[in-house]
Amino acid sequence: MFDLNPVFIPGPTNIPDRLRRAMMVQTQDHRAPDFVETFAPVLEKTKKVFGTTTGEVITFPASGTGGWEAGICNTLSKGDKVLIARYGMFSHRWIDLCQRHGLDVHVIECAWGSGAPADKFAEILADDKAHDFKAVMVTHNETATGVKSDIAAVRTAMDASDHPALLMVDCVSSLASMPFEMDQWGVDIAVSGSQKGFMLATGMAILGVSQKALACMETADLPRTFFDFRDMMNANATGGFPYTPPLQLIYGMKESLEMLFEEGLENVYARHHRLAEGVRRAVAAWGMSLCAETPDLYSDTVSAIYVPEGFDSNLLTEHAFDNYNISFGIGLGEMNGKAFRIGHLGALTDVMVLSGIATIEMAMKDLNYPIELGSGVAAAQDYLRKTVYSAS
Ligand SMILES: *Cc1c(COP(=O)(O)O)cnc(C)c1O
Repeated sequence: MFDLNPVFIPGPTNIPDRLRRAMMVQTQDHRAPDFVETFAPVLEKTKKVFGTTTGEVITFPASGTGGWEAGICNTLSKGDKVLIARYGMFSHRWIDLCQRHGLDVHVIECAWGSGAPADKFAEILADDKAHDFKAVMVTHNETATGVKSDIAAVRTAMDASDHPALLMVDCVSSLASMPFEMDQWGVDIAVSGSQKGFMLATGMAILGVSQKALACMETADLPRTFFDFRDMMNANATGGFPYTPPLQLIYGMKESLEMLFEEGLENVYARHHRLAEGVRRAVAAWGMSLCAETPDLYSDTVSAIYVPEGFDSNLLTEHAFDNYNISFGIGLGEMNGKAFRIGHLGALTDVMVLSGIATIEMAMKDLNYPIELGSGVAAAQDYLRKTVYSAS
């Protein structure tokens, strides 16, 4: 019927009309001079979003998963030891990808709802006198559980033993929506994608890569062709591409950066925080709880919410879709059936968030959840009303 209802999944996110129009361009010859003029500034401006002046931005036609693969195959060799904690579906999938590439993956098992265990990383790295660990991998925002990890703390943990491992960070569901400081945090590989904070269609993996990570290409022996950093950088240096570029996404990216800078990155982060807090007030008013264990872990881009004992969260998300034509995130992995997720990431306003809260409330009431109709909406309204800063 209508396609005006926003999605409340934590990616792919709602695409503003301005970006849909920007992506609607006719085919162009990527070997013609005007492509150079389009692409080079996009790479340069994206650095600001990563918080890097010293690193490079490298993109591939892929989803975020391709970004993970590009990150490891350009910097690591078969059998290399890597350290990673599992605390949700995305850290789990990253572990799987590393294992399938023949890396020696040392996994720290953590409760889903907790974040990256900086203290455990510190202990393990301090014991690794031979510097066998070549990389530490951290999912900044675990989209399955709505948990944000402290990357600065992980850097401090690595520096405590002067450990030279690369720090690789998945920022797919945090970049361009929550603060990210690649240089300040000493991140060597940061992986993101077009379809979350950048509010675009899926199809561009976007990486920030440090000079230290680039130097690893000399010795890294994992096979790579499509995802070769060097091929991409050599072509990009003259504004070109080693194969056919995703032209429409590049135009979209150009416009997305304009939108983000017009609003101001600090304001983008503040908007996400405020809307997330509105959602959290609603959850509290329903008497329900978040998967994230403590407030310092709360994600500003997605909330994973436990349904009360005896209810099936899959029935709730199905009911909302079937009856109200609106999508919420399902519970992933071990949270399937136990939790649903409200994505509050990308192009969102007060009005949109309130409509989402109101609609999931109706769905919960339909299914006899022990909630009071309007309670979550009122709590969110109250918070948003008191913190309003401009017509957004
Ligand atoms: C969305 C997401 C990804 C990438 O998934 P793709 O479907 O490959 O784009 C990776 N990590 C996190 C944390 C994500 O939220």
